[in-house]
This record gives sequence, C-alpha cells and structure tokens, in this order.
Amino acid sequence: MKNILSVDVEEWFHPESLQERFPRDSWDQQPQRVPQNMEKLLRLFEEKGVTATFFTLGWVARKHPQIIKDIVAAGHEVASHGSYHRMVTKMTPDEFREDLKESIDILEDISGEKVLGFRAPTFSVVRETFWSLQIMAELGLRYDSSIYPVWHDRYGVPDAPRHRYVAFEKNGYKLEEFPMSTMRWFGKNMPFGGGGYLRIFPNAVTTMGIRKMNREKLPAIMYMHPWEFDADQPRLDLGRFQSWRHYYNIDKNLHKLSRLLDRFDWGPFRDHLN
Ligand SMILES: [Zn+2]
Repeated sequence: MKNILSVDVEEWFHPESLQERFPRDSWDQQPQRVPQNMEKLLRLFEEKGVTATFFTLGWVARKHPQIIKDIVAAGHEVASHGSYHRMVTKMTPDEFREDLKESIDILEDISGEKVLGFRAPTFSVVRETFWSLQIMAELGLRYDSSIYPVWHDRYGVPDAPRHRYVAFEKNGYKLEEFPMSTMRWFGKNMPFGGGGYLRIFPNAVTTMGIRKMNREKLPAIMYMHPWEFDADQPRLDLGRFQSWRHYYNIDKNLHKLSRLLDRFDWGPFRDHLN
C-alpha cells in the first residue's frame, strides 16, 4: 500500500500559536529559514526515493519562487496551504475565496502545473466552515486534506468519517476529502503521523498506526512542517505546555522521519485521485 507523504510549507513564524507576535507586516523582517529547511527535506526525500505533496503558502511561494521550482523538478506535487496562513474559521466566505484563489494563482504561475489540493492552516475546516468545501470545488480543486476527525483545543470534527469521501458534489463540481489519519483506540479516534504527534510519539506508535490503517485498506497520511526540522530557529517562550508541544524532539525529527520513510511506501495525494 502506498501511503501519503505531505509537507505544509510555511515559515517558523506562521503557526497559529505565534500569529499574535508576528503580524503580517513583520514577516519580511524575520529570519527566513524555509529555504535551508526545505533543502534538508528535499535531500532526504531524494535519498529515500519518495515523492510527496507540498501544501505551500502563497506568501512563501512569492518570497522564494525557487522552492516551488525545486519541488516540481524533483517530481513532487505542489498544492495550496492558503496565502497568508489565516484559519478558515477566522475568514468570511468571500475572504476565504480571495485568499485561496490568490495562492492557487501564484503556485500555478510558478510551477506551471495545475493545483489540485488544499490543506487549511491549523486544520480549520471544521463543522462551522464546511461552506469552504464548495468554494474549493468551484476554484477547480479536486481534493481537500484539512479535516481532523479528533478532539483538539484548536481544531477537529470528532465524528467526521475517518475514510476518504466525497465532501462536495454539485453542478459538475466534485471535491474529495482525505481526512487526517487516526487510529481507533478504546472507542476514540487517536491522531498520529503528523506534526507534534509525529515528534512526540515514539516511532513504534506511528508505525502501529500506519499498519492499522493499511489493514483497513487505507493509505496513512503523514504531515510535517519545515520548521519542525530546524533546531536553530528563533525560540520563543510560549509557556510550558505550548513550548513543549511546539519544540519537542525537533533535533531528532529528521532521523525519526528517515526511519519511517524506509519502512513504508510513500507518494503524493495526486497518485490517489482517479
Ligand atoms: Zn500551517
């Protein structure tokens, strides 16, 4: 079974927990660390012979167009992570349409390829923002991978399907949802395989989760951010719990990922579309 490898391409100052400290007009003045972190990831993927989907922020693409060219040249898929890392829950439908369209335009312009997929910042496609699925379809996207069928303080639709499904279909538009990976654990959905879960859980847990999904004939979806492999990024005091969740195991993460790339087969989302 081919599992799905994905990267949300954003800077170290983009995560939601840091947004208040870094308003948009300060981004240009911050140390830019995406280029060197992407180099690390692209080199590892090449060594392991795997391809992935890179959900890239429009802002990052405009700032570092070479990154998009490198992604495409290596045979990976470019998809959208929105323009400015705004949570869908914090936008009106019109604002969302504008933000998403701007990102698709810049990504297609630089890559020369059609953008097929979207991942919302902070998995912010939740029950109140299901209207966004229609907008994605109308802008020509084929799939979304933003719904996390778990409980979390910032995101999640605990009772959403765990399997791939058609999330919107009307007037010739069709959008499929690839929910983030979970495993059943004492009657609940437990997240695994991405972001903090990938860094914090031992690889044995992630491996078990991938095997369980594959036994259900489902590809597991792994996701990560370039800053999660950057031990030298500027560190902020976020309070004890947030700091732990945000920075834990960053120094060991590349090694952990490398082991998982060896153990399973990986590819981009587009390989799973009909
Ligand atoms: Zn993000």
